[in-house]
Amino acid sequence: MKKINFVFDLDNVVVSVLDYEAERKYNEYIELLGEEFVKRHTIKALGYIHMVFPGFYALFKWLKENNHNIIFFSSGIKDRNVEAVEELMKKTFPKNYEEILKDVKIFSREDLFNVERYRESGDESKRNIYKVAQNPFFGNKKKKLVDVVVSKDELENTILIEDDKSYSYGPEVKNLLMVKGSYRYFSNYSFEKDSRMVEDEFSNFYKSYYICGLLNATLNYMKEKNILLLDSLWKLQVEDTNEEFGKDFFYPMRNQKKYYMKGYEILKRMDNELYML
Ligand SMILES: [Mg+2]
Repeated sequence: MKKINFVFDLDNVVVSVLDYEAERKYNEYIELLGEEFVKRHTIKALGYIHMVFPGFYALFKWLKENNHNIIFFSSGIKDRNVEAVEELMKKTFPKNYEEILKDVKIFSREDLFNVERYRESGDESKRNIYKVAQNPFFGNKKKKLVDVVVSKDELENTILIEDDKSYSYGPEVKNLLMVKGSYRYFSNYSFEKDSRMVEDEFSNFYKSYYICGLLNATLNYMKEKNILLLDSLWKLQVEDTNEEFGKDFFYPMRNQKKYYMKGYEILKRMDNELYML
């Protein structure tokens, strides 16, 4: 099988930054999740505590073992991104992280495709660049993959993992794998009556399981039907919902427990310390 390029957003996908009331939140997490878990899932970058969502160390290992490429693209500043990725790889591959890091590309704020400057252009073809980039998801800063992250030939084997669809560049919308993101790392809503809240909490915290489960299903379906990777992902993530695809599409598969359960089963083989609350 061809190598797949997995392009991970950082904030609210892989990590959650504690930028205010950090100490109070950190202690709260220790109380809720236990000191061992919290220490294992803490990295620091530019002095800020970053909480790593469970399962990502196992997911990175799983991808590397299957010979895929791991890439990061965060709208954060470069120094922070480089330090955070280094720490993530140290935690994931303690024995050979230096070697692994050589192959891990990192893209940052300055690599975003800023389409706003085309908006009011007197030149129609330039205004068209703006329109094309925004379809279907509005956003002035795009994580354009072609010519920035990968070559044109590589696009069909590239997946952007995001919690914010506004970063998706219109012509590359099929490359998007959407996960549930929240500015919170974890909070204990199990006593609250609002089941929607509990569901969001679960999807946010265990999104690595979802990524793994959905990918596993995508690869199986691709082989079974002998279709392209992105067509398979589109089928499972969009067509299977029977909902209309457009600017308000919500990626409802992010609530499908079957993908979380399958991902958990696979990742648990990579990391026997993984658990689900
Ligand atoms: Mg994000």
